[in-house]
Amino acid sequence: MTATVIDGKAFAAKVRAKVGEHVTRLKADHGLTPGLAVVLVGEDPASQVYVRSKGKMTVEVGMASFEHKLPADTSEDALLTLIDQLNNAPEVHGILVQLPLPAHLDSDLVINSIAPAKDVDGFHISNVGLLGTGQKSMVPCTPLGSLMMLRDHLGDLSGKSAVVIGRSNIVGKPMAQLLLGDSCTVTIAHSRTVDLPAVTRQADIVVAAVGRPQMVTGDWIKPGATVIDVGINRIDKPEGGTRLVGDCDYDSCAAVAGAITPVPGGVGPMTIACLLANTVTACCRANALSEPE
Ligand code: NDP
Repeated sequence: MTATVIDGKAFAAKVRAKVGEHVTRLKADHGLTPGLAVVLVGEDPASQVYVRSKGKMTVEVGMASFEHKLPADTSEDALLTLIDQLNNAPEVHGILVQLPLPAHLDSDLVINSIAPAKDVDGFHISNVGLLGTGQKSMVPCTPLGSLMMLRDHLGDLSGKSAVVIGRSNIVGKPMAQLLLGDSCTVTIAHSRTVDLPAVTRQADIVVAAVGRPQMVTGDWIKPGATVIDVGINRIDKPEGGTRLVGDCDYDSCAAVAGAITPVPGGVGPMTIACLLANTVTACCRANALSEPE
């Protein structure tokens, strides 16, 4: 079997186009421009790339982008003061603090200082609790994008067995909550899971969010299963230079799976598209307007 490739790049372009249409309507009908503020502390090169591309795509869909780049030695007080200003700025509907933060800053404290209604990353403890109890919340972008691709490819997920590898607060746990919300039977695996390949071989859906290059191989996958590869890892090429790979060994998994997301071009583009969608949602909620679907 050769797996269907789930094209996250094309899907994300469609999501962004829909976001753009909604932004146009918000401007024309209500004089509103959704605004996203991104806060970057320090000079982590990967974070700089993410922040640049978030800003670029925010502007491309017609929204306002506010970038706040702070030095690595920014004090917690200064960062909290900025977040407070953004919480109170009417032109800002979404706030994202790029993680990881420098070690001297308390990430939980910082994230929980964002107004939950503007927390477009969905990491605030209120949004985590709302998601966990099945209530309307801001949903973390990477799991949301992964769920959208699964629904698009498989339709109704009800009754499917899903294994999420990874239990981080930003990917693994919210992914498991979303799958549970869609009535999957969910297993969360992690570094202490015994005989992980035997666990994943039972699954109709495998979501790999581990951070270990090409760890999941084809013999871990049930024939016909759907594989969502969240991992983004840079490895050395034998001929020199580097390339991006996922947490799944693409070729061996694609030989067994029914469908698989590539890296790059799978989950990554959907993450930014969902961030833009969440910002429009936040803008609509703030103004008591109907939300995009
Ligand atoms: P974390 O490092 O926070 O979590 C990794 C998880 O994997 C942990 O729960 C850990 O278990 C588990 N794990 C580690 N080693 C193993 C192993 N050998 N077997 C089973 N489980 C293991 O990572 P993130 O969740 O932040 O990110 C995961 C991956 O997704 C990374 O490659 C990251 O770059 C990528 N990512 C991609 C995004 C995108 O937009 N596509 C967005 C965010 C992340 P334990 O808890 O026991 O330590």
